[in-house]
Amino acid sequence: MSEKKRILHVGIDDTDSKKGMCTTYVGAVVKGELEKIGVKIVGLPKLVRLNPACPFKTRGNCSVAMTLEVSDEEIPMVKKIVLEKVGELAELKVETTNPGVVFYKNKEIPPEVRAFSKKVVREIVKIEDAEKIADEIGADLHKFKVGRGIIGALAAIGNVLEEDRTFELIAYRTPENRGRPRKIDAESVLAMNSKIFPETFDNLDPSTGEIRITPHTPCPILYGIRGESVSSVESAQKIVKAGEPIERMVIYMTNQGTDEHLRKAKISEIKPFWSVSVKGKVSSSPKIIPGGHVIFNISDETGKIDCAAYEPTRQFRDVAKNLAEGDVVIAHGGVKEKPEIPLTINLEKIEILALEPKFLKRNPKCSKCSKRMKSEGRMKGYSCVKCGIKAPQNSVETVPVDRRIDVGKYEVPPRARRHLARPLVREYRVKPQTLEF
Ligand SMILES: [Zn+2]
Repeated sequence: MSEKKRILHVGIDDTDSKKGMCTTYVGAVVKGELEKIGVKIVGLPKLVRLNPACPFKTRGNCSVAMTLEVSDEEIPMVKKIVLEKVGELAELKVETTNPGVVFYKNKEIPPEVRAFSKKVVREIVKIEDAEKIADEIGADLHKFKVGRGIIGALAAIGNVLEEDRTFELIAYRTPENRGRPRKIDAESVLAMNSKIFPETFDNLDPSTGEIRITPHTPCPILYGIRGESVSSVESAQKIVKAGEPIERMVIYMTNQGTDEHLRKAKISEIKPFWSVSVKGKVSSSPKIIPGGHVIFNISDETGKIDCAAYEPTRQFRDVAKNLAEGDVVIAHGGVKEKPEIPLTINLEKIEILALEPKFLKRNPKCSKCSKRMKSEGRMKGYSCVKCGIKAPQNSVETVPVDRRIDVGKYEVPPRARRHLARPLVREYRVKPQTLEF
């Protein structure tokens, strides 16, 4: 019996909460259940991170999608399995968890869905926007509760990851271990990092040595290894030693570490909750505010905006602190809007294009004893206290100030980095992407 097979895309989002679960785990279970009944998964499942500045985001703000090859007869069973597993695993009791599932029966992803997907990564999108597109293309939507998840579910289907992509191998814990401390042999992670970095990245925080492949939440993930290829994450997995059983593993193709969320913008165009790249001149000296955050202002020909390097970005703040008026930078980050605070770019990365030379005026040295001379008063020249020698006003010395920073790119440490932010180490291996302004 040979039935005609067709392509069915499945998208799932908004199943987790701050207390637990993870949409990637729901995806892994769904994949496993479908494979059990003989459904073919085409290529790798996708893990699509959504706009990190979105105020409605769930903990990790990730959605998943996978492409299946099924016959018409199999479709009702496939839909039943997917919806049952989402209903069973999602944190439905948590008010802010509102899962959505989308099925789309068509090989090609229409351009409007691709555009929608970009929008969800970069802006704020309404449930109605997803419903409108789904209706136009004939996608099948399933909402749990408010069903906000249909936005991410449709976006995950629409993101074809054609410009840049990375991979993540995720290993999940068995139910009895979830919530307990994770047992990972730190030495094995160090060994993996020294052998495979930067083909796998974000294994460690270079400044603290902290292991970054394990999350710090009660979710089912034991560890996640991020890398440039399937083979790199597979090789890395073989080196990492776990002191507890692994329930299942999955490799996702993902937009993590690609900067897909950033859009080039002029300051006057910027809207709250966008993630932006803005070229401007530093227009106010950096200030350190209570809590250890560093704030400065940049301007372009259209306006001014605040930039912030918050305390968790640690040593990145030293770069921000040493900026000065007149420096030319490209600021990258999510735009936050808080009551009584102007729009602020929450810095993820900064590129310093030019440093404004700074000079310090110093009193001249005595020609006889080489001591610094004393000013005789405004515009009255200098004199040596010891020798009495005088020097004119214009003998003042102009000394360049050591700016303590250099032209170049700087990023927040891995512990403070957005899932979507492209680590600088990746910039050497993907097509050069210095933004044209
Ligand atoms: Zn002297």
